[in-house]
Amino acid sequence: MLDLDHARHRMVDVHIARRGVSDERVLEAMRTVPRENFVETGFEEFAYEDAPLPIAEGQTISQPFIVARMIEAAELEPADRVLEVGTGSGYAAAVMSLLVDKVFTIERHDKLAETARRRMKAGGYTNVEIRTGDGTKGWPEAAPFDAILVAAGGPRIPEALKQQLDIGGRLIIPVGERPRSQRLMRITRTSGGKFDQEDLGGVMFVPLVGEQGWADEAGATAARVLRGRSLPGMIAAAAEELPHFEDPAFGAMFDRFGDRRVVLLGEASHGSAEFYRARAAITRHLIENFDFTIVAVEADWPDAARIDREVRLRPASRAGKPPFRRFPTWMWRNTDVQAFLHWLRDRNEAVNDSRARAGFYGLDIYNMSDSIASVLAYLERVDPQSAEVARQRYGCLTPWQNEPTTYGRAVLSQNYRKCEEDVVAQCRDLLRKQLEYSTSDGEEFLDAAQSAQLIASAEKYYRIMYYGGAESWNLRDRHMFGTLEHILAANGSASKAVVWAHNSHIGDARHTEMGQVRDERNIGQVCRERFGDEVALIGFGTHRGTVACATDWGGPMEVKQVLPSLSESCERLFHDAGKPRFLLDMPDGASWREPLGKPRLQRFIGVIYRPETELTSHYADASLPRQFDAYVWFDETTAVTPLPMVREAARVPDTYPFGL
Ligand code: SAM
Repeated sequence: MLDLDHARHRMVDVHIARRGVSDERVLEAMRTVPRENFVETGFEEFAYEDAPLPIAEGQTISQPFIVARMIEAAELEPADRVLEVGTGSGYAAAVMSLLVDKVFTIERHDKLAETARRRMKAGGYTNVEIRTGDGTKGWPEAAPFDAILVAAGGPRIPEALKQQLDIGGRLIIPVGERPRSQRLMRITRTSGGKFDQEDLGGVMFVPLVGEQGWADEAGATAARVLRGRSLPGMIAAAAEELPHFEDPAFGAMFDRFGDRRVVLLGEASHGSAEFYRARAAITRHLIENFDFTIVAVEADWPDAARIDREVRLRPASRAGKPPFRRFPTWMWRNTDVQAFLHWLRDRNEAVNDSRARAGFYGLDIYNMSDSIASVLAYLERVDPQSAEVARQRYGCLTPWQNEPTTYGRAVLSQNYRKCEEDVVAQCRDLLRKQLEYSTSDGEEFLDAAQSAQLIASAEKYYRIMYYGGAESWNLRDRHMFGTLEHILAANGSASKAVVWAHNSHIGDARHTEMGQVRDERNIGQVCRERFGDEVALIGFGTHRGTVACATDWGGPMEVKQVLPSLSESCERLFHDAGKPRFLLDMPDGASWREPLGKPRLQRFIGVIYRPETELTSHYADASLPRQFDAYVWFDETTAVTPLPMVREAARVPDTYPFGL
């Protein structure tokens, strides 16, 4: 026996309130109206899935979240008169009838209007009046309206509806050039001839067919069928829609990769919240259900090592500075990473066996100064004599620690050859003493050895970076892969890792311009070469939105608009699929792999974003289904929220995880 009351309350809590609808009156009305009475016979058990469902005449009852979002956006008051265009099942009208004085609703299909009328009568919704007709012309005799909600998407905003708004009235309507992909707009009439317009985000509605909508159903259907045979149509058919990040079903969509040794999760920019949230949701699921114990990210080793101590409840490091102070701070110092780290710590706290706790590691090469501090602190504790030798060896890097990018230039003019030999020798010495040192504390040894390795790689990196070319990129990705291998080895033969890094590091470079033209390799490629089918490369993409970024290296963080993707890019194909967020698994043999695999422009936004030169600075050719095993799509993304830096002078105590 289905407990529909319980399911209804759960739907409102999980799918509506948690996703940001907060108007208590709206939530209460959604908890009250039995949606099961508005779906077709046989669909009752699905009434509280957050999805549109088919009704007669090839139409749909809208997704509950969208119904709630539109009603909330209309800011309804108890005395309001409301017009709805697109009665459909009558569900949204019934919900609104609990919130306002009177609801007028128009449906173009007589059969739907008739069924809805019967439902209103049976349910006692006496303040709803339904008529059959073309709603794009409004309901002039009943105008003006305090709010008008249109439940179907048209190519433009019907003038008649604007004119039937009262002053202060709100029109909520999906508008878009394609029949099933629109932007949800709110138009507010501020005076007789003045209207404000806001974009509330991407949506997907059935077509609004009428005098001021699409010409006819046949025209809209033809466009749809055409799209069905096109590449975006094929992507849409294969796309699996993603639930909300907090819904356990989100992570479960990635169960198919649970048996891999390494799952690499990309991002199309370093400053978009959705990429971080998605990666956090997937990682949580893999840790909880598939024994992953390593989270290795494109961050500097010493910074991540400090966080790791916190999340694995290990003793705090003596080296004093808070992590992630280096530009670009927002990349790790943001609210989404913070939330994930809190989860990680809480989860680890509940795990008694310390070996089963999941750690947080940095794969990247920068932050030489903290690495030096960390090697010295370690040696001072376990082998003070060697610490003295190390201090002398690292001495030649001291002038460049805080400005390492200028080191390459210094090497040209002075005799810094010895510096290279010294840092390599130091790393070698430390590794040679592994047995001696690590018997007491393996974790601490791994930290010191990786720091020494970072210093050796970074010395070389900064030296060759000055000359430009592929070698510095390759050295960095080789270092990242080497670090990953060391972490896996240190965690035992059955250890499994999730990696977070930019698409440019994760997408197999052999199928991109960077590999084919510039001879660059990356961690995704090397992982495939080393682990074969035991690895999954998952790319991420977006069409538009906002992003946290800088204009120049070292510059302040800005929030910029991400331009809509270029018409010839692979992102545009995904956008044209018309679905706001989905997973596209790209197995061999899928009929669309071949056409999708044709090299196309792909957008790479890193820390720097310069929309004004976007084509040359951010797009490169790539073959998406060869680069990645799967792709996660968010049509619209938003900038991450950075956390403030510690004001050291203010002597703020170091608090977990970022010393805030
Ligand atoms: N609000 C509805 C509900 O809760 O079930 C969902 C409506 S459904 C997504 C959109 C409806 O708009 C369809 O029933 C369709 O027939 C109707 N429609 C499309 N164009 C219309 C027009 N010009 N006038 C009136 N109804 C229209």
